[in-house]
Amino acid sequence: MKVNKKPVLYISKSSTRLQIIKKERCMSKKFLYVANWKTYFSYTQSLAWLKKNKQQLDSIGQNNELIICPSFIPLQKLSLALNKTNIKLGAQDCAPELTGAYTGQVSAQSLKDVCCSYCIIGHSEQRIHPTTHSLDSMVVHENEIIAQKAQTLISQNISPIICVGECKLEREQKKTQQVIKAQLEPIVALDLKIMPIIAYEPIWAIGTGQTPTNEQISKAIDFIKKSFQSVNTQEEVLVLYGGSITSENSNILKKIENLDGFLIGKASTDIQELEKIVL
Ligand code: PEP
Repeated sequence: MKVNKKPVLYISKSSTRLQIIKKERCMSKKFLYVANWKTYFSYTQSLAWLKKNKQQLDSIGQNNELIICPSFIPLQKLSLALNKTNIKLGAQDCAPELTGAYTGQVSAQSLKDVCCSYCIIGHSEQRIHPTTHSLDSMVVHENEIIAQKAQTLISQNISPIICVGECKLEREQKKTQQVIKAQLEPIVALDLKIMPIIAYEPIWAIGTGQTPTNEQISKAIDFIKKSFQSVNTQEEVLVLYGGSITSENSNILKKIENLDGFLIGKASTDIQELEKIVL
């Protein structure tokens, strides 16, 4: 496929290029808006939505980092349509390895081919048992697979957006930090060349209309940022919040000082809502 647009975190083999990318990322410091379209739109609907709203989106993307994450099939066409715009493209998952026996999955290499700059991984709707206790051995094993996905994405110069967060029971049992720690441990242990982006998404807040208090979110973000203190990439880890963000609560959530952006589900499929959230 022939497209001119380079992924935002494109890294050549030279370390100089890597330094430039890191510097650009530090300097940009724009608030990140990640639109997770899940499977709300079909292939045709995704293309039609973009065609209709491209100009509006492009101007939103001038002063903000705007990333659209459609389902897999529209990626290639959207990549062409987004060429020379301020809108970046992301995927919603990838296979743990570049190639192999992963039926039904899409490789990071294919995502790179269609110029994805970002990829969401570890979303609770993708984790095997999102509602079971995250400290079960099975889910801990899953955290390692997610770390493997992050490593593979970074090898393709794609920035992983890793979702973490507790379920309702774990919040009630005051295990939020314990859960996040288990989810992050295999990531922090990687030899990271690029800092991943972390999305704090409490499972009980996704699609429910419930949100944690600003204080609860800020505490989780602080914990996540501290977990990456030992990682030596000279970049700060960026932490997003996700879960029932709307134009009604976005201004309150934006008051959280240590917050770097939003991961928006349902509300990101409505252009008026999205614009109100961003502006
Ligand atoms: C999500 O699933 O990533 C999400 C944030 O969903 P919603 O905004 O619809 O709660």
